[in-house]
Amino acid sequence: MSDCIFCKIIEGKIPSTRVFEDSNVIGLVDLHPQAKVHILFIHKKHTHNINQLTHDDPHQLIHLFEGIKTYTENEGHAQKGFRVVTNHGADAGQTVFHTHLHVLAGEPLGSFGS
Ligand code: 5GP
Ligand code: ZN
Repeated sequence: MSDCIFCKIIEGKIPSTRVFEDSNVIGLVDLHPQAKVHILFIHKKHTHNINQLTHDDPHQLIHLFEGIKTYTENEGHAQKGFRVVTNHGADAGQTVFHTHLHVLAGEPLGSFGS
């Protein structure tokens, strides 16, 4: 997708701080972190949202969660706790239409939705 910010990040055309990468996915630091640790996990193959991804190629779900597993275990977040969120569509506040999983960690996160 030529006009997709995250595809440009994957291609290296827009700078980012990558904290994880394998052959399928990238983990990058969110530009506007909502927790001490706020990482976006994105698949290298473009889809618009989680439902399109699940429909088109559900193996990508495994790729994303394998990346999250490796990253959170390596960084110690798995032991202390972390949260995974994805926004789908306008009511959820999705602003970037390349499927991404937010991983929040590094501090007590409070009750969901608070
Ligand atoms: P959404 O609102 O679509 O669920 O999440 C999009 C996220 O992408 C936001 O948390 C926003 O801060 C982040 N973001 C938007 N543009 C960039 C960018 O160019 N680089 C990085 N690292 N994050 C971005
Ligand atoms: Zn994209």
